[in-house]
Amino acid sequence: MNAAMTMETTIVPALTGGVWAAPTVDAYHTVSNPSTGEPIARTPMCGGAQVDAAVEAATRAFPAWSRTPAPRRAEVMFRYKALLEQRFDELAALVTRENGKTLEEARGDVRRGIEVVDFACGIAHLLKGENLPQVATDIDGQTMREPIGVCVGITPFNFPAMVPMWMFPLAIACGNTFVLKPSEKVPLTAVRLAELFMEAGLPDGVFNLVHGGREVVDALCAHPGVASISFVGSSGVAKHVYALGCQHGKRVQAAGGAKNLLLVMPDADPDLALTAIMGSAYGCAGQRCMAGSLLMGVGSVGDALQERVATAIDQVRVADTSADPAAGMGPVIDDAARTRVVHAIGQTAKEGGQVVRDGRANVPERGFFVGPTLLDRVTPGMTVFGQEVFGPVLAMLRPETLDEAIAWMNQLPYGNGATIFTADGGAARQFAREMQCGMIGVNVGVPAPMALFPFAGWNGSFFGDLHVQGTEGVMFYTRQKIVLSRWGGSYQRYQGW
Ligand code: NAD
Repeated sequence: MNAAMTMETTIVPALTGGVWAAPTVDAYHTVSNPSTGEPIARTPMCGGAQVDAAVEAATRAFPAWSRTPAPRRAEVMFRYKALLEQRFDELAALVTRENGKTLEEARGDVRRGIEVVDFACGIAHLLKGENLPQVATDIDGQTMREPIGVCVGITPFNFPAMVPMWMFPLAIACGNTFVLKPSEKVPLTAVRLAELFMEAGLPDGVFNLVHGGREVVDALCAHPGVASISFVGSSGVAKHVYALGCQHGKRVQAAGGAKNLLLVMPDADPDLALTAIMGSAYGCAGQRCMAGSLLMGVGSVGDALQERVATAIDQVRVADTSADPAAGMGPVIDDAARTRVVHAIGQTAKEGGQVVRDGRANVPERGFFVGPTLLDRVTPGMTVFGQEVFGPVLAMLRPETLDEAIAWMNQLPYGNGATIFTADGGAARQFAREMQCGMIGVNVGVPAPMALFPFAGWNGSFFGDLHVQGTEGVMFYTRQKIVLSRWGGSYQRYQGW
């Protein structure tokens, strides 16, 4: 029986140097099934002692793992990929149980993570350097990429599989060792991912797992044995982690929150746009950093757009995702999230917005549910325009022109994603060039890049330089060495020195 299966009766174990054990701590976080509110596990809120042990184990494992030839490391990744495929349904069910997203969405969560493992299987090719023979007389120049040491990942609740896998597969394939600190709200998927990696033949200590919240995060950011921090979470914490990690001399990539735009031009294909809008705004109950949360119908399109979205909302079946594999939308993560979302809806109404569909009503009584909500007549002056609600709430604005819409959006401090729906290449081109954010969609509801490209947040949605995924990820987890070598004829002449 694996550790994840026994968790209803046990504390979530940590992994240190290849050994699974329940840490002895003073406090625990209760993990609940968000569809029912029932407790399913207890996360130990670790501290500095557990961080020291994990970093020490990773440090011990680094010399042998970093010297292991890249094609041998890739063999472990191929075995890991095969195990993840074998356990795909089990992993998706675990994601649904602890996060609350629908089974279909959980499958997407796991699939996006496996794609990073696919990418990491090509690590031998990705690590190849450059060379220039005869850069000077009898001297050849060559670059090589080397691993950086002990890398740390700190992850949020909303993608229990994908976001941790943005980080550790690539870091480890590059020859680093790793300490993962998953969200205390969804630690079970991370445990299972680690178990399968060990089963794939990863040496002890290469991958370690600690649990907890701020105390552990701060200890990791300050630990002298840690080389890098990869963080994904809300913007306030991202900024804190970036500052603390940099203060302690680490390279840091810290992705934060977002406010993403779905913009509909009058010439857009209405059916394509509607399907994409519904998936973007209400998929994962709006708990995606790429969720469309602002809807702008440009010019004459507004009234018809409002009506179509409202009608589509009426078809969404909100239900217990852990009991009903066909549920259309699940709950938000916990009671605090539900309270925050409910408050944002009330606040918008108070400020003069129109509540077209109200998710505060007609939802299952158990669990942490808010239904899909549509707010209209929102203006850039209202709180909801600039606030990351992180729930199934879509706020609609009515700009007169594309220029006005772009100007409104570019006031916001965030910079993750923006999508335009149009049949006009010129409008799409202007949008892509003028929007001040890192991920642009043209007729694509969620322009989240696959593993081959960087997840390229800008402004207050990202602190750092090199993003997760793609070749930027390889650069983040390696450092370059330049070797200049003098061999050959001239060397013979210098023998007498
Ligand atoms: P969060 O910031 O509350 O938590 C993220 C991680 O930080 C967790 O591991 C948590 O234990 C830790 N943490 C929480 N408070 C901390 C503190 N004060 N000091 C140090 N560490 C702390 O985020 P969340 O609620 O788990 O996730 C939702 C947020 O993540 C949203 O804002 C969402 O937009 C963002 N997100 C961003 C991306 C991206 O790529 N930009 C992707 C996914 C999620």
